This record gives sequence, C-alpha cells and structure tokens, in this order.
Amino acid sequence: MKAGVIAVQGDVAEHAAAVRNAATAHGESAEVVTIRDSGTVPDCDVLLMPGGESTTISRLIHREGIASEIRDHVADGKPILATCAGLIVCSRDAKDDRVDALGVVDVSVDRNAFGRQKDSFEAPVPVEGLAEPFHAVFIRAPVIDDVGDGVETLSTVDGRSVAVRDGPVVATSFHPELTDDPRVHDLAFFPDAEVVA
Ligand code: GLN
Repeated sequence: MKAGVIAVQGDVAEHAAAVRNAATAHGESAEVVTIRDSGTVPDCDVLLMPGGESTTISRLIHREGIASEIRDHVADGKPILATCAGLIVCSRDAKDDRVDALGVVDVSVDRNAFGRQKDSFEAPVPVEGLAEPFHAVFIRAPVIDDVGDGVETLSTVDGRSVAVRDGPVVATSFHPELTDDPRVHDLAFFPDAEVVA
C-alpha cells in the first residue's frame, strides 16, 4: 500500500507512523511518502490530511496544484483520512474566506468551535465500528455542524459530531495520530475488516 501524507504543514511524522502500524496490523506494509508538490498524489492508494493550520494548508495545496489531485483521488473512490485542520480543508464549507475548502466531505464545520489552545482536551469517545472507546485528543478542534445526506456520523461529543465517513473519506475533529492506537487509521484504510477490538 502506498500512503501519501500531505506534508505542506502539520503533524506529518505521527500520521506516517500510524498508517504503518495500521498496515502492519493487517499483515501489510505501507510505503509512506510525504507530499509537498504535485505529481505524487496520483500514485498513492491512500492519503492522510494532517492537523495543523487549515488556512496555511489550504493556501499551499492550492498553490502547489495538489488540491485538484486530492479531488481526483476521492473521485476515483480512494481513501483519505483527514484530521482536525485536514477535516476543515476537506469540508464543503469552513465558513472562513481564508480556507478554500475542497468539498470532498459533505459537511460544514465550525473552526475552533471547541475553543482556543487552552481549551484543548482529551476524552474517551465511542466511535462507530470500534468495540471500545477511542482516546481522542482535541486541539483547537472544529465541530461538524451540518452533515449531508450521504454522510455517516461515526462519533459525537455532547451531541456534536466529531467524526464522519463520506464515501472513501473518514474525517475527525480529533487527532488519532497523536496516540499509539491505530484503530481510526484502520477504519479509514481497512473498512471491510472485522470490528477492531
Ligand atoms: N483550529 C485549527 C484550524 O482551524 C486546527 C487545529 C488542529 O489541526 N489541531 O486550522
């Protein structure tokens, strides 16, 4: 499996490690490449959109010509895991002129809805498809405030959606790459596997 981590900004190394762990758990190995320019996305089987700063990530992927490649990747039915700022960039509407959202996940988001840096928090959250709650790390996290018809909500916190699946894309408000637990990467890239313990 060739996995591309969009690496224009954000927590790239953590995603690379997590996708390797998820692949190993399925007896596969992942070749991980970091993506800063156009031309590599078309070779990738799966993509990861890290957390970071959505305004910066959005500006750079459009400038480098990666944005249209990501849209084509999804149109081909190939998986993406988008986390936090990655979710914001992948949404249909980020309600912020500085984010040229890709529209590959049919949700709108409220950036920083969970507050500023000091309001970052961690909590065990139940996730659809996982047998046990996932220890979720929220850092200046967005909330998903509108979900399109074809979108499955995978997790909520206080009644607010924090993880969704839209076709080949799984997107989370929290940072599954910041724990040693590969189950969300697993859900994104091995969706037909048995429920993960
Ligand atoms: N709040 C940040 C943004 O709007 C995202 C934070 C994160 O990815 N941890 O881009």
